[in-house]
Amino acid sequence: MRITEIISGEKPSLSFEVFPPKTSDKFDTVLSATKEIAILDPPFMSVTYGAGGGTSKYTATICKALKDQGVTPIAHLTCVSSDKKFIQTELEVLRENNITNILALRGDIPDGLDINKASYRHASELMQDISEFGGFCIGGACYPEGHPESSNSKADLEGLKYKIDSGCEYLTTQMFFDNNILYNFLYRLYRENINVPVIAGIMPVTSASQMKRIISISGAALPQRFVRIVDRYGDNPAAMKQAGIAYATDQIIDLFANGINAVHVYSMNKPDVAAAIQNNVSEIIK
Ligand code: FAD
Repeated sequence: MRITEIISGEKPSLSFEVFPPKTSDKFDTVLSATKEIAILDPPFMSVTYGAGGGTSKYTATICKALKDQGVTPIAHLTCVSSDKKFIQTELEVLRENNITNILALRGDIPDGLDINKASYRHASELMQDISEFGGFCIGGACYPEGHPESSNSKADLEGLKYKIDSGCEYLTTQMFFDNNILYNFLYRLYRENINVPVIAGIMPVTSASQMKRIISISGAALPQRFVRIVDRYGDNPAAMKQAGIAYATDQIIDLFANGINAVHVYSMNKPDVAAAIQNNVSEIIK
């Protein structure tokens, strides 16, 4: 089923993300975590893609396992480190496995790569190729706080327009910890006439070290309320996990209450975290 169909209904949708292993010896562990999350029967799950090649082959394998379990998968696909021929091969693999949803991304620019010589410089170019290939529902990334490379908010929204003109049918947000940031962003999209559906990405932060890593990657702003939680419980893993799940749950309930019907949880291959959050909103998503 196409993601745009799944999220177009009245029913709130709570979905999950997993990431493939970096090394082959971890594959079974990741697969088993994926299957455990899939037992929760979410409307869809996404599987990220290792931008530098390497373990990228596992994305399709894990998506196939999800399909076999009856869960609609989204395969992430990045392009900045690939040439056109490789992307065509990746698309053929997805088609052969009947995987019809792709989150098309550029990926971060690897050190030493001259972007002007790359086959793909932006996600929109990948989206054009996927559109030409045909048969996929294409999604893209968006950044409520702006992509770090965008000079300003206007330029950031122009980047989104390129994606939509290239076949992007919906957007999934970068994580954010203050819902007002999302609401302001949605208003800016509305003013710019960008009206594809937006899936809100929520990251449950369950350890202090995870928080440091996430912030360095995403640059997301941290509300005082969140900082205090990490200050107080960061040294107590069990308490931090409980507080992180509660914080994410609070964000999700507020999003649903404000009419955001699709929430995607960056569940980081943690079935217990995914289950706890789903359980916390079980009546709301019924
Ligand atoms: P782009 O759309 O190319 O945007 C990058 C910058 O260029 C932005 O500033 C944008 O405004 C600007 N821009 C866009 N199009 C144009 C254009 N045509 N001309 C000029 N400027 C333009 N990374 C992975 O490696 N694997 C993953 O699985 C993965 N999944 C992700 C999922 C989500 C929901 C998000 C938010 C990010 C994910 N990332 C992933 C990270 C992502 O690859 C990086 O954030 C990357 O830096 C940008 O990717 P993009 O697709 O947004 O790029």
